[in-house]
Amino acid sequence: MQNSEASAPLEVQRLEDGSLYIAWGDGHQSTYGGPALRQSCPCAACRDEREAPNPLRVVRPIDPRSVNLVTAEPIGNYALGLVWGDGHRTGIYPYRLLRQLCDCFACRTERG
Ligand SMILES: [Zn+2]
Ligand SMILES: [Zn+2]
Repeated sequence: MQNSEASAPLEVQRLEDGSLYIAWGDGHQSTYGGPALRQSCPCAACRDEREAPNPLRVVRPIDPRSVNLVTAEPIGNYALGLVWGDGHRTGIYPYRLLRQLCDCFACRTERG
């Protein structure tokens, strides 16, 4: 187990436009859009769906409710459980994953 302090958020907010804002312990700030977050849902069902063979590249229509973030609840001290407008609530997003998903200019530059 690593010390989680540096990677734990000080503040988590659902913004009015449905995106998620996190202020991290090290001063970094991240904002995540609903669709991008839902795309990265780590639960087994979503992973299976993303990894299912799709040779015809069928584009499935996106249900707008499924990318509408309703609320974010802390799970222990290591993750956020996100609840979506379509009732999906099995996605537990570890803080480490959320930090990796940060798409701000500094993080994109750092990742190359
Ligand atoms: Zn999911
Ligand atoms: Zn960032």
